[in-house]
Amino acid sequence: MTEKKCSCCDGVGIIVCPKCGGSGKEECIDCNGTGLTDCIICKGTGEDPYDNPNGGRPKDCSACGGGGKRKCPICNGTRIEDCPECDGTGNVNCPECNDPRIRK
Ligand SMILES: [Zn+2]
Ligand SMILES: [Zn+2]
Ligand SMILES: [Zn+2]
Ligand SMILES: [Zn+2]
Repeated sequence: MTEKKCSCCDGVGIIVCPKCGGSGKEECIDCNGTGLTDCIICKGTGEDPYDNPNGGRPKDCSACGGGGKRKCPICNGTRIEDCPECDGTGNVNCPECNDPRIRK
């Protein structure tokens, strides 16, 4: 009886993550790779929503300094995040020789 090696992973049990190509990182989907998200306080307008002078122009939003954008909290402005598929390791369990119940 010869032991059959898994052709997918060569018997190692893990394969290079197909999602990130083994880098363990991928572009942050929360900010679309920009590193910035709309300020949640002013919703991207750059104006202080709590400052509402009659007829006047509201102050700059203090949360974002009036830019309307803030550093993405998911990737911390780095524009990349750990690949969710492999948890940043760059490898995933081989689907061929591991429990088929794992979610795809
Ligand atoms: Zn990955
Ligand atoms: Zn703001
Ligand atoms: Zn991000
Ligand atoms: Zn395998």
